Amino acid sequence: MMTSSATERSSVLKRKNYGEYNKMDKAVKLYLVMPCYNEEEILEMSSVKATKLYDRLVSEKMITEDSRIVFVDDGSKDRTWEIIEQLHEKNPIFRGIKLSRNKGHQIAIYSGMVYAAEQGADCVITIDADLQQDIEAVPRFLEKYSEGCDIVYGVRDSRDTDGFFKKATATVYYKFMRFLGCNLIEQSADYRLLSNRAVKALASYKENNLFIRGLVPEMGFKSDIVYFHVSEREAGTSKYTLKKMMSLALNGITSFSIQPIRLVILLGMIVFIISVVMMVVTLFDHVRGVTVPGWSTLTISIWFLGSVQLLSLGVIGEYVGRTYIETKNRPRYFISDETDDEK
Ligand code: UDP
Ligand code: MG
Repeated sequence: MMTSSATERSSVLKRKNYGEYNKMDKAVKLYLVMPCYNEEEILEMSSVKATKLYDRLVSEKMITEDSRIVFVDDGSKDRTWEIIEQLHEKNPIFRGIKLSRNKGHQIAIYSGMVYAAEQGADCVITIDADLQQDIEAVPRFLEKYSEGCDIVYGVRDSRDTDGFFKKATATVYYKFMRFLGCNLIEQSADYRLLSNRAVKALASYKENNLFIRGLVPEMGFKSDIVYFHVSEREAGTSKYTLKKMMSLALNGITSFSIQPIRLVILLGMIVFIISVVMMVVTLFDHVRGVTVPGWSTLTISIWFLGSVQLLSLGVIGEYVGRTYIETKNRPRYFISDETDDEK
């Protein structure tokens, strides 16, 4: 099960060798997926690191030789695709797929995962192409996979490399999402492992706006956490503009929650209570005769009508929200285990 308690976390951090992992009994076919958007400056560097890791894991019999490193070109406008083609020619462990235009990070990693599952990978790990996320954590993901996890979340050990703004907004955002009832894994990035069947389960969510960080915990399945270190970007600049970040955040909220609609009903109720109070106050004033003619009727009407309107909007909203959820047509359940009659 999930091990996200603070004590667990610090004990992992204190472990002497951060790169420690157990060897596995059986090599797995791993596809490492890297989304790339205008990454010409850093691709070669990242490919060298990835090759080193690949060779080591093959020699340690953790991954099979038909494991691959897949670059997803997310409609780059620079030489990214050329470089990917060259890498593939030099070394067939590299594969590339190119999206017809820039579709954003989430779609890029999704397309890479689906591609990997179609190619028969046992498991897929997604990691940013700039390798800010420590690629040395990969064997620890595999270790968890061999222990039977379908999902392994990468969780960053600190946010030291982020500026104050990114740190603060991220913290508030995670808290807010939790408040809205969406179960995000705190500080988890899109550095994660999914087994073949978890990718297929993810692909059965037919909604257009994919918020993978929310969908993966939603699926269930046995999962665990691996901590990793984030370092500075070594070349190029961040491709996550403020606009892209905002749209990801908004997407997360709207694709997971109809709570904002419910807030309208709540507001309606509050205004209704105020309107009752106002009714009493104005009637009282009316009886005392301290008002001008017409004031009481007007005031009461305004407050009462306002609250009725808000409540009605809330009720309509509730149905619209439900229709929204139904149109997503999400899968109802997944089976994670079944008894075996063969033996
Ligand atoms: N990325 C992408 N499509 C986009 C934006 C980003 O595929 O529209 C990729 C990018 O190439 C990188 C990853 O997403 O591999 C994370 O982006 P970046 O490193 O720029 O974000 P940051 O680390 O600054 O959050
Ligand atoms: Mg980065």
